[in-house]
Amino acid sequence: MKLSLQEAKNKLIENGFLDIEIDKDINLFEEIEKLKKEKNAIILGHYYQIPAIQDVSDFVGDSLGLAQKAAETDAEIIMFAGVHFMAETAKMLNPGKKVLLPDLNAGCSLANSAPAPIFKSFKAQYPDHIVVSYVNSSAELKTMTDICCTSSNAVHVINSVPKDKGIIFAPDRNLGAYLMKKTGRDMILWHGVCQVHEMFSWEKISQAMQDHPGAEFIAHPECEPHVLEIADFIGSTSQLLNHVKTSDVEEFIVATEPGILYQMQKSAPDKKLYSAPPTTTCACNECPFMKMNTLEKLYIALKYELPEVVLEQNIIEEGRVCIDRMLEISKKAGL
Ligand code: SF4
Repeated sequence: MKLSLQEAKNKLIENGFLDIEIDKDINLFEEIEKLKKEKNAIILGHYYQIPAIQDVSDFVGDSLGLAQKAAETDAEIIMFAGVHFMAETAKMLNPGKKVLLPDLNAGCSLANSAPAPIFKSFKAQYPDHIVVSYVNSSAELKTMTDICCTSSNAVHVINSVPKDKGIIFAPDRNLGAYLMKKTGRDMILWHGVCQVHEMFSWEKISQAMQDHPGAEFIAHPECEPHVLEIADFIGSTSQLLNHVKTSDVEEFIVATEPGILYQMQKSAPDKKLYSAPPTTTCACNECPFMKMNTLEKLYIALKYELPEVVLEQNIIEEGRVCIDRMLEISKKAGL
């Protein structure tokens, strides 16, 4: 079905994505490749995307890797196969580019847990503190942040703050608690959580460790402290991936969004991987926001160049300062 640009825009307002039927006979991989060349577009895909989207992406990575790629790309269009705050970060880092997101509804429970106006009042109680925010936060929150961080560089970022300065850490209380332990710094924590990483069951993981005695339990620092306590290795998504690739161990129980298992299995095909079980019986440890993106939505978004992520100029200017500081610290640390 072909639509005019105006018709496409109207449809977008209704749904947050272009709900258009597409010809079932077309090869989406080939069509997406064609559109990428035609439009000088790059697809940046997060590790938590479905395998088909990871396969069609030009670069697959975690928040830090994707931000670095977004900052340096020469492509005219950045198709961000991830969630909204990631596309906003790409726009702030490379404002001259058109940044697309397959589905505008792809938000993040963690970013949503720190609404900017409420955070503003909270921050006002600690006027001398430095604000360090996890990249999983809204563009508005970034305008109130001194230094941004990802789970890959958070320890370096915290250590870069002078010892005599107090720190507010937002929005993830689990990552914040882990960083307090790791760096020995006392911090004021905002009490936000990621609904996916809060879901892992200590009891079921302990049982899985007994069932697979040769397996290492590896976890993302967004998991709850009592889950992290029994982990053999804690790291960001890319650090977990690298650990599986380089370790001599043959089996792993993995506590993070299971989308990463696709790249882990690709890079270590002989290793056995088990997704850590959630407290419920459903697939609740899949991120419902990440999984809103489909190959069809991505194809249509690239074709119509909609939905586009647009930010006001002052948000771009004020918000990117904390991201630039983070990238500088990462560069110095060789990350
Ligand atoms: S996994 Fe958690 S932190 Fe990541 S996008 Fe989903 S809700 Fe947000």
